[in-house]
Amino acid sequence: MRPDILNPLFRPVTSLEGIGPKLGAILGRLLLGSEDEDARVVDLLFHLPTGIVDRRHMPEIALAPQGAIVTLKVRIDRHQPGPRNNPRIPCRVFAHDETGEIALTFFHANPAWLERAMPVGATRYVSGRMEWFGGRPSMVHPDFIVGEEEFAAMPLIEPVYPMTAGLPRKVLQKAIAAALQSVPDLGEWIDTAFLAERGWSSFRDAIQAAHRPETESDLGPLAPPRARLAFDELLANQVALAVTREHMRRAAGRAHHGDGRITGPIVAALPFELTGSQKQALADIAADLGSSHRMLRLLQGDVGSGKTVVALLAMATVVEAGGQAALMAPTEVLARQHFETIRPLAEAGALRVALLTGRERGKERSVLLEKVAHGTVDILIGTHALFQAGVSFRDLALAVVDEQHRFGVHQRLALAAKGDATDILVMTATPIPRTLMLTCFGDMDVSALTEKPPGRTPIDTRAIPLERLDDVIDRVGRAIADGKKIYWVCPLVQESEETDLAAATERAAALRERFGEAVALVHGQMKPTERDAAMERFRAGEARILVATTVIEVGVDVPDATIMVIEHAERFGLSQLHQLRGRIGRGRAASTCLLLYKTPLGEVARERLKVVRDTEDGFRIAEEDLGLRGGGEVLGTRQSGMPLFHLVDPGAHADLMEAARDAARLLLIADPELASGRGQAVRTLLYLFSRDAAVRLLRAG
Ligand code: ADP
Ligand code: MG
Repeated sequence: MRPDILNPLFRPVTSLEGIGPKLGAILGRLLLGSEDEDARVVDLLFHLPTGIVDRRHMPEIALAPQGAIVTLKVRIDRHQPGPRNNPRIPCRVFAHDETGEIALTFFHANPAWLERAMPVGATRYVSGRMEWFGGRPSMVHPDFIVGEEEFAAMPLIEPVYPMTAGLPRKVLQKAIAAALQSVPDLGEWIDTAFLAERGWSSFRDAIQAAHRPETESDLGPLAPPRARLAFDELLANQVALAVTREHMRRAAGRAHHGDGRITGPIVAALPFELTGSQKQALADIAADLGSSHRMLRLLQGDVGSGKTVVALLAMATVVEAGGQAALMAPTEVLARQHFETIRPLAEAGALRVALLTGRERGKERSVLLEKVAHGTVDILIGTHALFQAGVSFRDLALAVVDEQHRFGVHQRLALAAKGDATDILVMTATPIPRTLMLTCFGDMDVSALTEKPPGRTPIDTRAIPLERLDDVIDRVGRAIADGKKIYWVCPLVQESEETDLAAATERAAALRERFGEAVALVHGQMKPTERDAAMERFRAGEARILVATTVIEVGVDVPDATIMVIEHAERFGLSQLHQLRGRIGRGRAASTCLLLYKTPLGEVARERLKVVRDTEDGFRIAEEDLGLRGGGEVLGTRQSGMPLFHLVDPGAHADLMEAARDAARLLLIADPELASGRGQAVRTLLYLFSRDAAVRLLRAG
């Protein structure tokens, strides 16, 4: 149960004065990304300002600069209502000081209200933006109009918050002020010495201060109150990860010892030698599988580093020991492709491999499920369909999850729950920088495939302005004549599938005019059968250009495709570009990647494209991406189910991540049940950042 002291923060925002259901829904959209979610007071607290309005500048009228935010002390002279029949002409209130006259301008205003707020002859402070029209000063809809008594209480520096349509600025400010009022004094969860060393104040003071910035530097991620709050969130995350992990570790695993009777023939049948790092990863995995601890290992390897065969051999090992294995991929295309790659390789070891996606239905599906339940399928490959109810294994010993960052942690756990102490191997092609890795996985064991398979040629990557599209198309024409295959990736226009789709469909149509049937199109909205057919035509070489949305980002393997054109490359994340580019350069032939960008290119965008051009090192690219964009986006946080941070900026707070990890570890060594005074405060912290699942695990013991 949540500690009572937090109750005021977990009330819905609609419990605040002036926030009804309608504004509540708008706040849901602003704070949680959906009108259907009930925003709570704590969500308001975590909505930090991104700017300030400084009203301290108090010039005389004649000296107030055009466009500046100023506060003027004026005397009200007269009201000039707009004509009744023409609401487009505003109401003007004229006022003056020693240096001149100003028109305060109001559209659609209620004259009676104006007269009450600004009686003729009264002194008023008005604050807003100065506008000079043809040498005459005016201020349209001042933000503040106050008398001399109220002026003392008027905020001269105002925080500016990210906004959303339909939410008046003042309403949000008032709601946040009310939220700040209700922050209780919570026990301290940060180690006293560390707190002193950093010179941080309490959580309550820090959250108050973060909402009352006075200078631009107060808005930066390293301002002490913000740093403290980021640390709080990181600490909550790290404690939750550590507790979860400890819980999994204590749930004893089972030892699976392979005898090589399946893996041996498979390795012998491979058309290549395993690389050193593949062998090392397999040794790590075999050791985990053979121990009675539960395996929780991340297999990290850049695109094309050869993770699939490692996964296959890991799965074959548990089958040797009498168990079953499952491989879960994020998309149907990818699941199918894993199936197609793995099936022929598995033949050498007489493994029984099956595919389960949303597409297998009816009789076929029930027969398959029967086999899985009876253990006559050794390896089941599929999408998230794998962990739906109705799928049960005779003995699921190993779950492999590919392209982890697309799945949420709960999905991973749901799959593991299908077996008894199932070992877990997570594969990711996104090189996750160490700092982010800590945040997302805690201290997960890691095997990294650092060598690429031999025989790859470096990719020649060039950035070309979109104006030269015709040249690019000519070049594609020559490449087709030479028998080459080309990926043509269309931009992510918006978050919306439909718009992406329109761009891709249009490009495919334009290219078809020139290249006819040599053009195939794939996108996320296609029927799976059509998509497979298009992919197959490309693989077989009937189609030479594959126009695609980013569905090909992950895992697609057509080794003889050697050219990739990426339209509007400036709109993609660096890691995404890197993933995309990893689709080429897979064979011995030289490969080329053309990054088409829209001019003019800003400084940061230019820098980003340069990074991709200069290196094929996925780690470097991911680190740069982190620096340039912030961590959430590297992993596509929202769709990924990764912990969503409110107060952390992974780029700026990298050192705090390490500190939080260490703090969490020390804390749990000293007080594994979080029973001490500080332990209780840490429990409160977990609730505060909605990491309460971890508290339940603590209780379960
Ligand atoms: P990823 O790590 O991106 O999933 P894949 O497992 O799809 O990479 O492997 C990419 C390609 O490299 C595949 O065509 C695979 O057959 C090939 N491959 C894997 N390991 C080796 C190796 N040791 N030597 C040569 N080619 C390999
Ligand atoms: Mg792969």
